[in-house]
Amino acid sequence: MKTVYRAVCIASVLISGCTLMRTEISSPNAYQVERDQLVIHSDFRLAKRHRLLDELVARRLDLAAKLQLPLSDEPIHVFLFDSPSEYHEFIAKKYPSFPDRRAFFVETDTRLKVYAYWGDRVGEDLRHEVTHGYLHAVLTNLPLWLDEGFAEYFEVPRGQRGVNAAHVELLAEQLKFGKWFPDMAQLEKLERPEQMSQQDYAESWLWAHWLLETTDPRLDLLRNHVARMRLTGETPSLSVVVKSLEPNAPQLVADHLRSLLQSRTLH
Ligand SMILES: [Zn+2]
Repeated sequence: MKTVYRAVCIASVLISGCTLMRTEISSPNAYQVERDQLVIHSDFRLAKRHRLLDELVARRLDLAAKLQLPLSDEPIHVFLFDSPSEYHEFIAKKYPSFPDRRAFFVETDTRLKVYAYWGDRVGEDLRHEVTHGYLHAVLTNLPLWLDEGFAEYFEVPRGQRGVNAAHVELLAEQLKFGKWFPDMAQLEKLERPEQMSQQDYAESWLWAHWLLETTDPRLDLLRNHVARMRLTGETPSLSVVVKSLEPNAPQLVADHLRSLLQSRTLH
């Protein structure tokens, strides 16, 4: 059985500067590769033109074009550990309150940082966490669920239109047995990453996918909403805006899920 426990991040964590670390476990720093906004620190040599880095760099432009966001030149520091044990040891010492995850995004007042390790799922993990970095470099007030919905959408490899197969299967199963129905207002109540279940991540992705991939008016609605957040610094309720344009949105989102499941079955 495929495990559904996956990389999630801690977004918008404010780190106090008073933590003294007597047993110093340093983050990787032997090698450094710079690619546009990304500064990748590692203790192993990583090819500057590695295809994973190429994809992460391309994602920056994908994201800016899709959401009509400006490009930032604020560095995103990616600390890439050689092994899971070194990564977990570092995180346990440096961020003892963090839950056990494969990768993290951390935002402080002055830096955007990603921690991850080189493993089988490093591509997915970095696409997810670096998406948070790109978003937080230009948006300061994304609601948690939408931040995660975008990250889940952009973690899918390029060329797949953001279809996250694991999420489709999970939600379709819940929908089929009447255990769940789309409810964006409920997602908007989530304030902390640890409150989010796997189903919440999947539903956040589904709403993002419906807005980004179905019709031009929905895409425009989302772009305008994001632009308004940037301009005003406010975080208005997207569910209210969506409801005014499409009162039947939850049903349409459920239909969208069924059509994604159908197209997966047909392939
Ligand atoms: Zn995340």
